[in-house]
Amino acid sequence: MALSFVQKKSAPAQYNVVTKPAESPKKTGTVLSFLKTGQSAREALTQEEAKAELAKQEQGKLWRFWMPDGEDRRVTFLDGEMSDDGLLDVPMFYQHTIRINGNWESFVCTADADTSQPCPLCESGDKPSLVGVMTVIDHSEHKVKNGPNAGAIIKNTRKLFLAKRNTIKQLTKLAAKRDGLAGCTFDVSRTDDKQPSVGNQFDFVEKFESYDDIADKYGLKIEDAQPADYTQEIRYRKPEELIELGVGKAVKSALGTKKVSSAAISDEL
Ligand SMILES: [Zn+2]
Repeated sequence: MALSFVQKKSAPAQYNVVTKPAESPKKTGTVLSFLKTGQSAREALTQEEAKAELAKQEQGKLWRFWMPDGEDRRVTFLDGEMSDDGLLDVPMFYQHTIRINGNWESFVCTADADTSQPCPLCESGDKPSLVGVMTVIDHSEHKVKNGPNAGAIIKNTRKLFLAKRNTIKQLTKLAAKRDGLAGCTFDVSRTDDKQPSVGNQFDFVEKFESYDDIADKYGLKIEDAQPADYTQEIRYRKPEELIELGVGKAVKSALGTKKVSSAAISDEL
């Protein structure tokens, strides 16, 4: 069954408007000009910079919901209404997920939004996946590892829930039974590492009538019990910005050394 029904035709366009020019990574040309470094050293440096730049840009953004295999979580969906034709009405877009210096990083594929030039990540051999985005509250406890709040226990955290095709199909069935996912709490399990990292078993717990009810039950501010503003949370980078970050090159070098296969990437989300 084609997924064209859930893809909003206008979806890629909305990511155009959120683009703020990214700060340029530090230029290294002058430093490298007197160092006799090889191609691999330059690529490593590019990756290091891309990672630092990405970390800076992602500060203050919502985390993406993810669970290790074999674990259980409890989440409440804050959106995911049913459309009039009985389908899950979520914004969708094409996303590349690549490894940069050991971290998985995601980038919006530029192919739909910018037809004037090829997407640098597609060009370098990576295949994008169609994903739908929703917002959940992750009720599980999490210990903060770094920063000023290191050691603190946080829970009931709002996160982005990115679902690929099979998860969207599964959630559409659940949503049909509950008249939409918004307000529904599920116990989620990920049964093994081949399963989507957002989990593959969803056990219904309860459904809230309103955002107020969710905020009341978990002691949250009302704004922390609302769907995220995806135009703020999902950063669209223009092809030029991706090239400047060096992420196209990062894929190329990873593919070249067979450290990453497309199949491994598509199993990650
Ligand atoms: Zn692409």
